[in-house]
Amino acid sequence: MLNYIREREPISRAEIARETDLQRSTISAIVEALSTEGLVEEVGEGESTGGRRPTLLRLRTKEAIAIGVSITPSRTTLATSDLAGRIVEQKEFLTDPDPDNTLNEVIALVREFSVKNNGSIEGVGVSLPGLVDPSTGTAVYVPYFKWRDIPIAKTISNASGLPVIIDNDANAVALAELWFGRPEVSDARDFILVLVAEGVGTGIIFDGQVYRGQRGAAGEFGHMVIGTHAPVPCSCGNLDCWEAFSSEGAAKARYLKLSSERNIENAAPFGFRELVDQALRGEANAKAALVETAHYLGIGISNLVVGFSPEAVVVGGEIARAWSLVESALTETIEHSIRRGLPSAKILPSTLGEDPTLRGALSLVLAGKFAAAFAA
Ligand SMILES: [Zn+2]
Repeated sequence: MLNYIREREPISRAEIARETDLQRSTISAIVEALSTEGLVEEVGEGESTGGRRPTLLRLRTKEAIAIGVSITPSRTTLATSDLAGRIVEQKEFLTDPDPDNTLNEVIALVREFSVKNNGSIEGVGVSLPGLVDPSTGTAVYVPYFKWRDIPIAKTISNASGLPVIIDNDANAVALAELWFGRPEVSDARDFILVLVAEGVGTGIIFDGQVYRGQRGAAGEFGHMVIGTHAPVPCSCGNLDCWEAFSSEGAAKARYLKLSSERNIENAAPFGFRELVDQALRGEANAKAALVETAHYLGIGISNLVVGFSPEAVVVGGEIARAWSLVESALTETIEHSIRRGLPSAKILPSTLGEDPTLRGALSLVLAGKFAAAFAA
């Protein structure tokens, strides 16, 4: 119901009844519970369809209630958002390989946001590019910086007085897709989110929940072996991992190789974002580098589809912006490898927008609010 109101607000109880086949009395009882929880509010009256003018409902969005912290190998981004996931304020800094320095900057900004919002912030969600144990709030291993067993949640919570939830970046983005994604994804019970960034990670949604495995370590498919002699080393150091063939770094390496006969000085330094921009403008080497990367991305996705038979696979990250260029390479590779008789899955670009891991970090808090309303 909360999702329904969020997607269609402002909406009346009568409209919800018409569209959902739920009893009016059931809807009224749920709306009552949601407003007691402070999740839904009434906003004036809608058009009358004959009788009394209906009262319209929407999510309570007066204030920021969540802080999201997205730590990536290059940048750390913090933002506040309201209950509907709309971003209110955003700041970022360059991630320091020293965890103490990065955490101190995070804590300073969390405090600043918390004070500014006069106690309306209910929690902090942190997304990390590595192995995370959400039950203890510990970053078990972040390969880019060799962070080991860092009590991230406790450190931020002790310093800010706020509850802190942490998760692996791909799991967090999968959660964001589940709650805030397009209906084709959020309505699916089983889907896999493939996050292409500096690394490649997967978040598995199994029966409507994130599948975590022992100590939260499930979904490390970035390290499945799909070939030899990748264009770049994986974050684990090996040259045969899916990540080493399909990450942003792999695409950049392919681009540099293709461009090497020409003017390489013009090519560097540049980021993956610029590579995507160039490809979208029609630059041949950038397009070829993305298409080849999509082919390897497709090989890994085929393996996941064959093994899990999910309803959908969602590809997130900057590469989703170049969907028109990479879609056919991806789907051709996948269709080629799906064995006859086995169902295929929908392959979709993420629609979470610019900063999926930030959306994911915010979802760690927001999904908890929505889930608490379910439990109540
Ligand atoms: Zn690896």
